[in-house]
Amino acid sequence: SRPSLWRRYLQFPLIWKMLIGLALGVAAGLVFGESIDAIEPLGTIFLNLLQMVVFPVIVLTLVTGVASVAPSTLGKTGLKVVGLYMVTSAVAITLGITLAMLAGVGKGLSMPSEGGEPADTPSVWETVVGIVPSNPFSDLAEGKVLPIVFIALLVGFAVGAMRHASDEGMSDKGDLLFRIAEAGSEVMHRLIRGILEYAPIGVFALIAVTVGTTGPEALTSLAGLVGVVYGGVALEIGFYALLLFLFGYGVKNFFTHAKTPMLTAFVTRSSSGTLPVSLEAARKMGVPNSVSGFSLPLGATINMDGTALYVGASVVFVANVAGVDLTTGALLSVVLVGMLAAIGTAGVPGAGLIMLSLAISQAGLPFAPVVLVAGIDALLDMARTGSNVTGDLAVTRIAAGKKLQKEKAEAA
Ligand code: ASP
Repeated sequence: SRPSLWRRYLQFPLIWKMLIGLALGVAAGLVFGESIDAIEPLGTIFLNLLQMVVFPVIVLTLVTGVASVAPSTLGKTGLKVVGLYMVTSAVAITLGITLAMLAGVGKGLSMPSEGGEPADTPSVWETVVGIVPSNPFSDLAEGKVLPIVFIALLVGFAVGAMRHASDEGMSDKGDLLFRIAEAGSEVMHRLIRGILEYAPIGVFALIAVTVGTTGPEALTSLAGLVGVVYGGVALEIGFYALLLFLFGYGVKNFFTHAKTPMLTAFVTRSSSGTLPVSLEAARKMGVPNSVSGFSLPLGATINMDGTALYVGASVVFVANVAGVDLTTGALLSVVLVGMLAAIGTAGVPGAGLIMLSLAISQAGLPFAPVVLVAGIDALLDMARTGSNVTGDLAVTRIAAGKKLQKEKAEAA
């Protein structure tokens, strides 16, 4: 008998379904223009489905990830991951500044007359204090990722220490908790696979609305900035490929599995929303959960290479529109602020714009030109989130080193 339509849909490769959704979405956006926002709920359902699983995924994968590493090797893996995150972010922001200066983005554009107010930007101390939750449940309810990562890390440490305790009763309790978390992760894994079957429709709707509602005028006058951000992101992704190559890890195999989360990040514009999909990809690459369970939730919150690149390029853009020359000192402070703010910025759509405000006030630049950037932020957000997520995965792959495991046999 012939397979049913539904079976055939399930058997069709996911990435192709998503790419078809993308292509149809672009077409629908161009044809219907602004009226396409009627289908926005279809996209929102996809975002909600992803967000629905993010917090349990973060808690369960961090607990199993951290608790499965022997306490003695945890520090080494952690240092490697965080170090690589810092390096890739620094490269990205430098790339953004350099490309924008070479291209002279914003030169010849006039200052918008209506000023715009700088967004409320948290200070460095506020960011640091905000990492430590006083009430984890209200942080959960408000969707704050960083404090939840913090407490899940601590619980993971505690469970890991219990498992490795010499007292048998204690290690039994640790193992019990560990196995419960592992079983919970398996449940999430199944949910995510189901959610991904809805992804093509979500991709279609999200991209159609973005294309349909971004005004063509905004696009043409800011083509330079768009070009620099997209070009920069392409170079940054080339940089990850180079790193993987230099470390001797299969570049092709990496991108075979990374493309689904890359595309998801591109259309959802949310690193934390994409986290469940990234974890699936790492699992398919064979990265052990002891690495990805720790580095991916962390990376989705503190490693934002695309955002750093965008901030660098946009600061140069703002300076050029305002006709201000950036001193070397100002540029250095932009690099530092950009990296710091990347840590505190949430992986949600549009968060990078707040970070840009921070960098602009740090560099002492006028705020008005940011209004221009805000007009096309959705478009820039797609590229930078794509790069953010690719960076997390590349570092995760490198941190896993040679310790790959064969994909777990999966009951279909
Ligand atoms: N949307 C980005 C992310 O989730 C953050 C940003 O706005 O730059 O990674």
